[in-house]
Amino acid sequence: MWEKTLADVELQISKPNFLTWFRNSRLIEKNDDNGAVTIGVSNNFAKEWIQSKYHKMILEIMRNFDESVNRIDYIVLTGNVEEKIFSQTKPQVSPEIGQVGFVEFAADPETNLHPKYSFKNFVVGSSNELAYAAANAVSKEPGKKYNPLFVYGGTGLGKTHLIQAIGNEIVRNFKNRIRVKYVPSEKFVNDVVWAIRTRRMDDIKNKYRTVDVLIIDDIQFIGGKERSEEEFFHTFNILHQNNKQIILSSDRPPSQIPTLEERLRSRFEGGMIADITYPDYEMKLAIIKNKTQEKNFFLSDEVSHIIATKIQRNIREIEGIINKLFFYKEFKNTEIDVRTAEEIISATLHQNMVNINPQQVIKCVAEFFEISPQDLINKSRRKEVVLPRQIAMFLMRDMLGMSYPDIGDKIGKRDHTTAIHSFEKINREMTKDKILNQKVILVKEVINKNSS
Ligand code: ADP
Ligand code: MG
Repeated sequence: MWEKTLADVELQISKPNFLTWFRNSRLIEKNDDNGAVTIGVSNNFAKEWIQSKYHKMILEIMRNFDESVNRIDYIVLTGNVEEKIFSQTKPQVSPEIGQVGFVEFAADPETNLHPKYSFKNFVVGSSNELAYAAANAVSKEPGKKYNPLFVYGGTGLGKTHLIQAIGNEIVRNFKNRIRVKYVPSEKFVNDVVWAIRTRRMDDIKNKYRTVDVLIIDDIQFIGGKERSEEEFFHTFNILHQNNKQIILSSDRPPSQIPTLEERLRSRFEGGMIADITYPDYEMKLAIIKNKTQEKNFFLSDEVSHIIATKIQRNIREIEGIINKLFFYKEFKNTEIDVRTAEEIISATLHQNMVNINPQQVIKCVAEFFEISPQDLINKSRRKEVVLPRQIAMFLMRDMLGMSYPDIGDKIGKRDHTTAIHSFEKINREMTKDKILNQKVILVKEVINKNSS
């Protein structure tokens, strides 16, 4: 019965909304005595949302199938709700079809480091040699030189790889004598939010202030999250005073993280700042060689050349292409010729380009909040549209990395200060307002689903 109901629901709401709210839902029981049906849904927020938005529709549909139904209760299916929701905040990396050929190891539960990142498989070239040298020095003598080490650069250029490699190298060199911990900054923020809510700030202190090497990835995300900045500031000072090594990565230099507190900025600038820039042709070739050798995958020089010239910027993209070509080869059992390579590359590049755009963000946000896209753009200051509008601006920055003037322009030719204000407000409020946080996460999911 639930499956039939879902099939009807699916016809009446958008696909992304359907997937977001009804994924994993199931019929728990139907009480034939009183006509009460219990539906299990995946999290608290879905429960509230379904209750307030879709309940009437669901009841109607169900009664079409079975008149004896006169009541529906929704319950959250097992598991820690917080965990479930927060686990969705992981950066969205589009899954490539060709994970074939990689042995997938899990991250180490103690250090949280992933064994696949090492110095050995990190290709060094002009775009990252300074960062690499600093990383290498830090791994030999953690806490002595370059503290903190701050690595910044665009997405997919190897920051996570490099800073995790430092961690792995330290573990290798010093075994149990040095305690290393790696965390993405969202995880740090979530820990702080959780600690505040459960009044267990000591947990945070125990977790982060007792390590010898603390590695935080994508630190720009803590900008504007006041309690997290505060907590991190103290953690930083204590570790630093005790000559413990701190390693940070960010998509931009400290001076450009818009909402970062001054005192943190100056701490970051007090160590070594190294950037990673775009790889040049030779380095891209070296990366292609390296990645194909790892999988015993032979690519001709011509094909390697095509990849290196067509893929302009991102190393992650190069990996993606190699995986796709590899997959194709395994699948069709043929060597990759120039034409095949060109076709696959151009299909991928095209796909990446249309992947997510500002219009999609507007459309998805509007749909999510059940207002019209026009409402988001026009001048109305009604409460129901102001928040979605701010969220749309936040997401354009957060997901697409658009500039503030561009964002203002897309949202009804508003001034860039409005965009800044919106971004900062949502960024800040999300740490305090749980529901808002969940909404933003869910809208992101909808957008990602819509675009894939
Ligand atoms: P970022 O954290 O800067 O977004 P990642 O570290 O996640 O980028 O790198 C993206 C992918 O590219 C990863 O799979 C990583 O292993 C690979 N990669 C990046 N830089 C290099 C490099 N110099 N040598 C080998 N692989 C690299
Ligand atoms: Mg990264």
